[in-house]
Formats: sequence, C-alpha cells, structure tokens
Amino acid sequence: LRKAVIAGNWKMNKTPAEATKLIEEIKPLVKDADCDVIVCTPYVDLSAALEATKGSNIGVGAENCHWEKSGAFTGEVSADMLASMGVQYVIIGHSERRTYFGETDVTVNKRLRAALDSGLSVILCVGESLEQREQGITEELVAMQTKIALGGVSKDDLKKVIIAYEPIWAIGTGKTATAQQANEVCSVIRETIKKLYDAASADAFTIQYGGSMNAKNAAELLDQPDVDGGLIGGASLKPADFAEIVKAAS
Ligand code: 13P
Repeated sequence: LRKAVIAGNWKMNKTPAEATKLIEEIKPLVKDADCDVIVCTPYVDLSAALEATKGSNIGVGAENCHWEKSGAFTGEVSADMLASMGVQYVIIGHSERRTYFGETDVTVNKRLRAALDSGLSVILCVGESLEQREQGITEELVAMQTKIALGGVSKDDLKKVIIAYEPIWAIGTGKTATAQQANEVCSVIRETIKKLYDAASADAFTIQYGGSMNAKNAAELLDQPDVDGGLIGGASLKPADFAEIVKAAS
C-alpha cells in the first residue's frame, strides 16, 4: 500500500521569522502522522524551515529550481544549492510558474532532471485549465504533460518523483474537483506511468491532488483509490487546517 504524502506549498508567503513560527505551530499537531508531511517554502525561508523542522517528521522542499548547476542566471537557484543546504524536495512545474513565468513542458523536464541529478525528490505538477477541461482534452493533456516531464528519467529515479494533479480552475478558487474528477485524472496519470515504465512502478507511484483542498474536503478526496496525498496551498498556512488534512491522510 502507498503511504500518503501531504505537502504544503506556501507559495510567496511568510518571512523567515514567520516560517519558524508557523512550523513551530504545525510540529506538535502532526507529530504522530502516519503519512509523510512536507512544507515547501520560498527560498529565503529554507534555512529557517530546516532549522525549525530538525528532529521532527516534517520534510522541507523548495518551490522551484534551475536546471544548470551554476552560472550567469541572475535570480535563479540551482538544485545543487538546495541539496547542499539539506533540502529534500522541490516542486517543479507548478501552474503558477507555467502561467506567469513562461514555464513550458520542456523547461519542466530540464528542471526535473536537474533536481533528480542533485539527489532531490520532486513534486511535479500537472493539470488542465477550465478551457481545456471544457474542450474535453484533460486526459490527453495531463498524459502529455506527464510524458514530456518524465522524458529521460530512469525507472530508478522515478522512485523520487511524486506527481501532483492540480486542475488550474481549482487552485485558490475554493472550487475543488469532485473526488471522482480527481480520481479519474489521477488514474490516467497512473496509467501513463504504467505505459512509460511498468505496472510495479505505477503501483508504487504517489499521486497527489491539489486545488482548494481543505480540512473539510480532504477525507473524501484522499479516500479515492488513486489519490495518495495532497498538495495544499492556502490551507497549509493555517496550522489547524493543515493538521486536519494530515490527519485525514493518516
Ligand atoms: P490552494 O490549496 O490554495 O488552492 O492551492 C493549491 C496549490 O496550488 C498547491 O500547489
């Protein structure tokens, strides 16, 4: 059976001091969790987050990384830099990066491979817009995003990848996909992994749902056979709500 993974994506929120405070509040609430718990924070909060989570069951991730190891890329941070700090995870291909910062399936693939090369685990985000859903192309699109992002990734490295299915229309809108909608697309992702690799890899693969997941709707979403966890935005900034979601996954 797959262990659930609940990850917070803080997005562009919290100063380092606020990060420490938030983690100190979350820690006791999730200490007995029977699932993996991760917080993904802005780069400037990572040191504080690593310090605050020391000795706890909370893992720390970044929200992006560059594909080159170093060089003239003003404003960017490499996967090696993150790994050297002790960061374990990185989110790649979030829809906000695709929408606002020119991220494409090709650059997602480059970042993902660089992250794996540096020993990081990746939370890869895929998902359709409302327009794409209405056009009826959700399944093909998500399968294609998955295939391109995983190009060149070995079966062994795949063990360090999680996919988060995040329908764009459900992110920050309060509009959650129904449990059935979430499960349908997560199962398409699992099928895609099976075709690209094999049945055992697909069986072991962790797929999260993300998009307005909260304390109220988490249990039903996490109850779905192909939904193995959640990537949580807004609710991950509220300790009690985040803890409720962790509890629902345990
Ligand atoms: P919300 O939970 O705020 O909808 O954000 C979801 C998300 O984008 C997580 O990566």
